Amino acid sequence: GVSRRGFRGNFVPPIKSNGNNARNISARNAGKYDDSLDDSTKKCLEILCGPDGELPEKLRNLEPRLIEHVSNEIMDKDPNVRWDDIAGLEHAKKCIDEMVIYPLQRPDIFMGCRSPGRGLLLFGPPGTGKTMIGKAIAGEAKATFFYISASSLTSKWIGEGEKLVRALFGVASCRQPAVIFVDEIDSLLSQRKSDGEHESSRRLKTQFLIEMEGFDSGSEQILLIGATNRPQELDEAARRRLTKRLYIPLPSSEARAWIVRNLLQKDGLFKLSNEEMDIICNLTEGYSGSDMKNLVKDASMGPLREALKQGIEITKLKKEDMRTVTLQDFENALREVRPSVSPNELGAYDQWNEQFGSLS
Ligand code: ADP
Repeated sequence: GVSRRGFRGNFVPPIKSNGNNARNISARNAGKYDDSLDDSTKKCLEILCGPDGELPEKLRNLEPRLIEHVSNEIMDKDPNVRWDDIAGLEHAKKCIDEMVIYPLQRPDIFMGCRSPGRGLLLFGPPGTGKTMIGKAIAGEAKATFFYISASSLTSKWIGEGEKLVRALFGVASCRQPAVIFVDEIDSLLSQRKSDGEHESSRRLKTQFLIEMEGFDSGSEQILLIGATNRPQELDEAARRRLTKRLYIPLPSSEARAWIVRNLLQKDGLFKLSNEEMDIICNLTEGYSGSDMKNLVKDASMGPLREALKQGIEITKLKKEDMRTVTLQDFENALREVRPSVSPNELGAYDQWNEQFGSLS
């Protein structure tokens, strides 16, 4: 075999393997990456290269597999949600137009005193459309959308969260304008302090704040959106960076009606009178947008369940013979689908909104 003994028989350590996917793209080879990388990883990196064929400064020294993960799993090039898909929330939509959409359309007007904030917090009970808003912002602004759940940084990416955060902001800066949506941001930027706090999660938090600081001062077109149902957990540093804080409340009666109508109409199943719609709205006080969706889903099973009960075989069932969805279907569904937010949780949101929210 090949002798590992060198000159004078000294021990020569084995040569480091080249075929290591985890190798960094070092500054030494100035953006020229390893030939031994997977084709998919290479393709990913190639897309991010500038016109000179070099990988941007920010992405050097990052592990290719993390860049690939950000590009494939976190980035969404075409989030197909628009403002019109979101029921209600007029106040939030207006604020966001002013903060994000208009500045992108007219950067010349939004300069100096008018330069937009780069951090937005959406808070409120779960299932009220916060994620939808994030996607719609990216859709409306023709921006690249990045979605990450902060709890995955600490649970799934144990010990690597910091590196992943760097890769995330690095790729976003190559993909401007960009919207970075951080779900459950409280788990990342909470005020629970030192003793119980692990060293690694403290480092992760610091890294995150550094990255935010970085694009906040610069001319980069990156918007960070944090979403939380526990705004009380955020500390002062987090609040300072998330300058606009919008309460995303439970849907109003009109918004609930809109969701029902919209979902049923899409499937050609809508045939309820205004009076019936009013009854449904009255019975769904306290339901979130996501509860409403589940309710509609269950109600729309009504006609099918009925046909099966009459003994019609599922294989012989004709779509055109099935009736549309009725008030009775909704009344049955209301027994199955209960509201997921308890009314006594709402006071805390109002209170936090009064103190820290962007009211108008
Ligand atoms: P959150 O991020 O606030 O927890 P999501 O945006 O993920 O909630 O909403 C979950 C689902 O509930 C959406 O995919 C949508 O179907 C429905 N939904 C929630 N809020 C609304 C809304 N305001 N308008 C229309 N659909 C909504």
